[in-house]
Amino acid sequence: MTEPAIYESPTPYEQSRIHAAAIYCSDGRVGEQIDEFLHQGLGLPRYDRVAVPGGPACLAGSLATFQEARAVEDALRFLIRVHDLTQVVLIAHQGCAYYLDSLGVPASSMLTEQRQHLEKAQRAVRRLEDGLEVKAFLALTAGSRIRFEPL
Ligand SMILES: [Zn+2]
Repeated sequence: MTEPAIYESPTPYEQSRIHAAAIYCSDGRVGEQIDEFLHQGLGLPRYDRVAVPGGPACLAGSLATFQEARAVEDALRFLIRVHDLTQVVLIAHQGCAYYLDSLGVPASSMLTEQRQHLEKAQRAVRRLEDGLEVKAFLALTAGSRIRFEPL
């Protein structure tokens, strides 16, 4: 297949914002499912995306993720101020390489750690802005499917 010089997306552009953002892992294997969950499961079209390795893991207050936390918090503050965010969704996913590699968490205790990290991250994001609604989910693999479990 040759790439066209100009590609036009068939998806119409919608000017209005919906004042919601999601923080999730960069892992492309779960990108489509997360998009679908936010669109269909939570009714959030056109949400703002903050995709970083490990997603909300960096917001759990660990010293090892201090730099990432600052970057993500700065991004969120910008979106809260300029895009007038009222809602933030945090998603961690099972089998996340960031936990294994960067945080050194063994696979056997990863889900337990992820639940704790999501709780801490939820509190950290709530502290950024009064009245911000913050939901957290864990994306679990179930055979060839992904299920989103609320915290
Ligand atoms: Zn990941």
